[in-house]
Amino acid sequence: MIKKGMRRQIVLHYILVVFVALLLVEVIFLLAIRTYYYDSVYSKITTHISTAEEFLKYEISGERSPNQLQKVLDFFSMDYTELEVLSTSGDILTSSTGFQPDRTITTSDVPEAVGGSIGRWVGRQAGTNESVMAVSKLIQVSSRDKYVIRYLTSMERIDKDLLNLTLASIGIGAAVMVIVVLFSFGLANSIVKPLNNITAVSAQMAKGRFTARIKGNYRYEIGDLASTLNYMADEIIRSNQIKDDFISSISHELRTPLTSIKGWSETLISGGYDPEETKLGMGIISKESDRLIGLVEEILDFSKLQQNEMKLSIVLMDIKVVLQETILNIWAKAEKKRIHLVLECEDTIYIKGDPNRLKQVFLNLVDNAVKFSPEDSSIVLSAQRLSASEMAVIVRDSGIGISEAHLSRVRDRFFQVDALNGGTGLGLAISQQIVELHNGKLEMDSELGKGTQVTVILPLTEERPTAPALPENGYE
Ligand code: ADP
Repeated sequence: MIKKGMRRQIVLHYILVVFVALLLVEVIFLLAIRTYYYDSVYSKITTHISTAEEFLKYEISGERSPNQLQKVLDFFSMDYTELEVLSTSGDILTSSTGFQPDRTITTSDVPEAVGGSIGRWVGRQAGTNESVMAVSKLIQVSSRDKYVIRYLTSMERIDKDLLNLTLASIGIGAAVMVIVVLFSFGLANSIVKPLNNITAVSAQMAKGRFTARIKGNYRYEIGDLASTLNYMADEIIRSNQIKDDFISSISHELRTPLTSIKGWSETLISGGYDPEETKLGMGIISKESDRLIGLVEEILDFSKLQQNEMKLSIVLMDIKVVLQETILNIWAKAEKKRIHLVLECEDTIYIKGDPNRLKQVFLNLVDNAVKFSPEDSSIVLSAQRLSASEMAVIVRDSGIGISEAHLSRVRDRFFQVDALNGGTGLGLAISQQIVELHNGKLEMDSELGKGTQVTVILPLTEERPTAPALPENGYE
């Protein structure tokens, strides 16, 4: 007995389908052959009757007598058949065997013949139990005399031939079934074995062994499944690596301000410093605390986005105002590297969005641009309409750029080209998700050593402020 499972399902289905098909074909074939054999016996007899009938009227005449009956017998007799001459009520009057039992024939062929058609009956003969076919026909010998002539022919030989044919076709059917069983086992194994292998490897992966790989050159869907699982394991290893990098970089990011806060606070506790020094120490503590808050907020934002919990406060807003605020916020940082910030935005462009969240996106993009640009360079922020329904904000720098291999991954969470640059690797991932929440797109182009261009595409709105103009801050 085959164990429950796909193998058994495949084998049983195959066997069932082929068995039913074979059975149908064989039954139809054997029935057709039997009908053909029986019909040819019948038609041979009926042809003989009609040829004999043609000459009947010229040959037989006179009164009803044994002589007349003998004449009928001689006239209609046929090789390999027994001929009986019956009265219309079915009594045997004479027969070609000469044996005339005082019998009345009651089989269905006689009333059919009396009714005017050629009667046919197939069955077992009483007494001998031999398989026979009886063909009967009413003939008019003279104006008064009618007889039923009844041919009886043995079907034993035909039945024997048919039995041999049946046995032969059962033999062929059995051979076909054996081939089908072997083939279905082969097919089932070709599916089940790789699946068992894949299940075993995935069980190892589920236990955390992501270095396990599905080996074997599988084809079609199973091949796809194997390579998808292998790919999944690669991705898990990669994201684990990225997470490990993140933990080490975030620890570093947290450690630096904490060390400085701790150092200054201990120094200040020990006392004896003049107000100028105390002010400097407190300033550093405050700045480093801000940095820590910024970091924690970034991580909180990310977790909110991951859980779809970030709610936007959508208002009608002028993008130019947000860009101006962004520049003001980053001005001091850019100034330190003597980086020139340029805003290119001719007129007001209205969109519907969350100004604080969009400012967070642009701040992150410009902050990256400042971080990765050389001193004395320029960063251009431009806003322009792309079509009646879309606008774009472009942040372009001429900094270190990003290689092609890294460009597709910089928007992945926690990814950083170089962890020593500081940051969490979450900025672009968060920015992209905020832009997508605004039904927009974030695209990146970059060339290593030449610079980077980030394009934020956002939908435009036809709505205009109802008041004379938007308030000072540019939002409704
Ligand atoms: P973070 O800046 O906190 O590390 P981001 O998601 O903002 O995280 O950026 C991911 C990485 O993409 C950065 O670490 C940096 O390697 C690269 N990157 C982003 N913007 C730029 C840029 N303008 N020029 C060069 N590299 C960039």
